Amino acid sequence: MNIVAIDGPSGTGKSTTAKMVAEELGYTYLDTGAMYRAIAYLVESGELRVESFQNSQIKLSFDENNQILINGVNRENEIRDPKISAVVSKYSAVPAIREALTAQQREIASAQPCVLDGRDIGTVVFPNAKHKFFLTADYKTRAARRLLELQNAGKAGDETLESVETNLRARDKADSTREVAPLVKAQDAIEIDTSHLTIQEQVQKVLQSVSEAARCNNSLDTTHKG
Ligand code: C5P
Repeated sequence: MNIVAIDGPSGTGKSTTAKMVAEELGYTYLDTGAMYRAIAYLVESGELRVESFQNSQIKLSFDENNQILINGVNRENEIRDPKISAVVSKYSAVPAIREALTAQQREIASAQPCVLDGRDIGTVVFPNAKHKFFLTADYKTRAARRLLELQNAGKAGDETLESVETNLRARDKADSTREVAPLVKAQDAIEIDTSHLTIQEQVQKVLQSVSEAARCNNSLDTTHKG
């Protein structure tokens, strides 16, 4: 199974890197954060109750631009709202929600070579993934990137660098201290501090390491066969 796992907190360039790496390798990109955001959106908008989540018939999928579809309807805009960012960690800590989304992620990525980004891909979803990365960056850099993203999407509203940083810190704390599948670097993941890297540099680092590992595997195969 060809899996590239890219984990780490928000604002480290995970999703942009994962998308570009997937494109270069010809793999499918799976944004697992979008799936947790979709559940948060459904609960917040009153369309779903956490207690009845297991019996619900929610179908999550992605269109050709990697935008999320909830029961066939594009909800990409709604799930990126800062209001959802502020509450998503509450729902992503619920074991039944994690179990269901983890199963879906495994199903999607087992059917095709995949680059997944998230918090627990290398530790829980695909602990045996061949390629694991853990992206980090300092808070100031992460907050500046996230604010720019919101501004570009016309979603910044009253957000400031401070308010964005406060949300990032709160989410990191919730995500890394929850009981199930906390945000933590897998022991065998390659850590990349992206604070001073451009997106192209991050992508190159990942691609380089993937191709080195593949070369190494090939030569091991040849040694064994020979
Ligand atoms: O990556 P993104 O910021 O969109 O993720 C939103 C939230 O979804 C995270 O803060 C985290 O609570 C949750 N998440 C998770 N496990 C994943 C991906 C995201 O718990 N694999």
